[in-house]
Amino acid sequence: MVIGRFAPSPTGPLHVGNLRTALLAWLFARSAGSSFLLRIEDLEARPDNAAHEAGQRRDLQALGLDWDGPVVHQSERRARHHAMLAALEERGLTYPCFCSRREIREAAAAPHGPVPGVYPGTCRELTDEERRRQFDEGRPAALRLRSSGEVVTIDDRLRGPVTLAVDDVVLRRNDGVPAYNLAVVVDDADQGVGEVVRGDDLLSSTPRQAHLADLLGLARPTWAHVPLVVGTDGERLAKRHGAVTLADLAREGRGADAVRSEIAASLGLAAPGEPVTVGQLLDRFDPARLPTEPWVRA
Ligand code: GLU
Repeated sequence: MVIGRFAPSPTGPLHVGNLRTALLAWLFARSAGSSFLLRIEDLEARPDNAAHEAGQRRDLQALGLDWDGPVVHQSERRARHHAMLAALEERGLTYPCFCSRREIREAAAAPHGPVPGVYPGTCRELTDEERRRQFDEGRPAALRLRSSGEVVTIDDRLRGPVTLAVDDVVLRRNDGVPAYNLAVVVDDADQGVGEVVRGDDLLSSTPRQAHLADLLGLARPTWAHVPLVVGTDGERLAKRHGAVTLADLAREGRGADAVRSEIAASLGLAAPGEPVTVGQLLDRFDPARLPTEPWVRA
């Protein structure tokens, strides 16, 4: 039995794209007779986390999705994340990085600079003396992985093999909060998650997550990255695309059942406008026949 999960960040209401990913994650797990977990990725303490979490749970339930066991919150797992960070630090696999976002942007924009989005390595070879000076000046330090350019291949269930070089990814942010890429690896492994189903916007992070799991001696899950939902402008679905949350749609007279139908039709699991229950979707679900292109939602 391969445990599945949905792991939203409580930053706002789930939109149709998030709900579609949640439904798929649930279908992958439940159609295999597996457990399905809900994990709230609340690494960042925001005042409205609890309210957003409550809303997200309500929306998932309205769609007909259920989950097993207690909901895990990443914020409760801080000690474990820090222990994993300390283990990497002790092995000399990390270094402090004092760069601000602006400095990274400027270095990356320089002629012959590194590939956009890749950390230019400014702090990688600082001497002890230079590091001490930065700390003495009170500059906050993030913690980065000291990668060796390892090239990692993962085999995505929907996308096939994906190969990328591991970069000096941030493991702890400069405000002391463990970074998503570290926490997600530790939490999935500790919760026994065997298959991660999530949006394919995260596909490019997956090889580095696989590498982190290897370094930490944790089991790698398998992955199925599902296509995103985009607006007619080709951009990832967002508020500006109009009615995208269950609350917005309810105001237009379209309840959760109608949204489930719409999502099911987009997945080829129902005819347009056909009412369906999650039980019917389970019977019809076949991972091999999922659309591989983004869903353009008008
Ligand atoms: N918390 C992440 C998000 O809401 C998802 C992480 C994951 O599924 O690995 O985008």
